[in-house]
Amino acid sequence: MPARSRTSKGRPVTENADLQSVLDRAAEGGRITPEEAVELYRDAPLHALGKAADAARRRRYAGTEHIATYIIERNINYTNSCVTACKFCAFFAAPKSPDVWTRDLDDILRRCAETVELGGTQIMFQGGHHPDYGVEYYEEHFAAIKKAYPQLVIHSLGASEVEHMARISKVSTKEAIQRIHAAGLDSFAGAGAELLPARPRKAIAPLKESGERWLEIMEEAHNLGVESTSTMLMGTGETNAERIEHLRMIRDVQDRTGGFRAFIPYTYQPQNNALKGRTQATLFEYLRMIAIARIFLDNVAHIQGSWLTTGKEVGQLSLHYGADDLGSIMLEENVVSSAGAKHRSNRQEIIELIRKAGRVPAQRATTYEHLVVHDDPANDPVDDRVTSHISSTAFDKAKTNPELKLIDAS
Ligand code: SF4
Repeated sequence: MPARSRTSKGRPVTENADLQSVLDRAAEGGRITPEEAVELYRDAPLHALGKAADAARRRRYAGTEHIATYIIERNINYTNSCVTACKFCAFFAAPKSPDVWTRDLDDILRRCAETVELGGTQIMFQGGHHPDYGVEYYEEHFAAIKKAYPQLVIHSLGASEVEHMARISKVSTKEAIQRIHAAGLDSFAGAGAELLPARPRKAIAPLKESGERWLEIMEEAHNLGVESTSTMLMGTGETNAERIEHLRMIRDVQDRTGGFRAFIPYTYQPQNNALKGRTQATLFEYLRMIAIARIFLDNVAHIQGSWLTTGKEVGQLSLHYGADDLGSIMLEENVVSSAGAKHRSNRQEIIELIRKAGRVPAQRATTYEHLVVHDDPANDPVDDRVTSHISSTAFDKAKTNPELKLIDAS
């Protein structure tokens, strides 16, 4: 029997022999079925599940298993105008509402300039489904960003935006993907996955495309050479089986394309939206999801812990439950922050969080190469400006800087 999923004294970590044998198989890199995943997710002792997931992570990253990564990026929100009105969303405004705003290209380029100045490598261009923004809008903006800042990776949008812009421009989604990729989009961020199974998806995002359609467009993108990450919104009332079904739907596509670089679960934030209620996913459930994702998604390389929605300590713990990445210092974030995610951090703190979780921190690129490995604290970068939410409309104006804090972008 493999040692990894056992205690240091060789005893099984769960008394249930069936569950233990599935955990052992998973720890050894074997594939588990959706039915087994539901059982493990529901019934395996938390530590046993985490132990098997950590073994799977170590196996995948043998040689660099001591490292955990982060990235510096900026979300740039170009408009909050949206025709899709997802019930969980606190960011959008109906197109004719007086609350609608848009950012012009100069403003967007200034934000890109700041990102470069602060050592950011990636931007997430993120906004509502504006009734007038077709493929041309994105072509123009991506081309302008790439022309001014070719060093920035545009890791943005997802299948929902592609579906919307293709409809506005009356072209196929394939043409939309090809055109925005040619204009400068490097990869899709994979937002809009929410929950892929039909029942919970209709309940929270009734006007969005179906989960099957979301995956179809991502598959199309992968086949055109545009890779992506994948996400999952937990805690709006979905069942355990529906959570695992979401993973199954992703795994099936990944078997065909290999285009999903990462899986990023995050938790629903209940403020200022139509769904309200509470987050129906405990932090333990979140850790269980990280672990089961590492085990079940044996074909997805990276699992990210979302400290932005669950907190820094849970982020640290996620590194022991199968996650290899702690996401980003988001220089700007307004979407989940508007719904109540108020966790903030800075580069020094993220480095320390990773180090205190027993890993060597490394700043990564969008494609997960290590850019800087912080293996000597004496050489840690010191720059107080590399802080999440240096600009955010979602925070209390007294406590943050609601306006752009311009570094000299001229
Ligand atoms: S989640 Fe996106 S698509 Fe849905 S309402 Fe918010 S901005 Fe619009």
